[in-house]
Amino acid sequence: MRGNKSTDTKPEIFVRQLLRLAGYGYRLHRKDLPGKPDIAFIGRRKAVFVHGCFWHQHKGCKRASKPKSRMDYWRPKLERNQARDAANKKALEARGWSVLTVWECEIKQPATLAAKLQAFMDGKHGGGCHSAVDPNGGDPPQP
Ligand SMILES: [Zn+2]
Repeated sequence: MRGNKSTDTKPEIFVRQLLRLAGYGYRLHRKDLPGKPDIAFIGRRKAVFVHGCFWHQHKGCKRASKPKSRMDYWRPKLERNQARDAANKKALEARGWSVLTVWECEIKQPATLAAKLQAFMDGKHGGGCHSAVDPNGGDPPQP
C-alpha cells in the first residue's frame, strides 16, 4: 500500500478539536470500516474524512490544481484516490452510515467548518441525503 498519508495531519487534529469542543465523542481510524474514516461516531453511524485538497482533488479548489511538475506521474494517482474515495463513501452509505468530507482549505474558516460539523452531527446536512425513512419520533428514547 503506497501513499504517505500521515495519521495525524494538522487539519485532522483541528477537526477533532472542534468536535471535542462541541461535546461529541468519537473513535479514530476504525480499521473495520471502508476507507478507515479519520473520525467515526459508531453509535450515530457518522463518518468524517479529512481530505487534502490536492491529494483528493477538491473540486473547484485552488489547492487542487497547484502547479505540480510531473503531472503525468501524479494524475493517475490522484484519479485513483478519487475513485477510492467515492467507493468508500458508497460502501459506508450502503451500511447505513452518513459521510462528511472536510477539506483542508475549510480549516481556514473555523466558524463555517464548525457549523458544517454541527449540522452533520445533527443530521441536518442538506444535499446528498435522501433517506426516505424519517418517521416522526421514530427514534427510540434514550435510556
Ligand atoms: Zn480545497
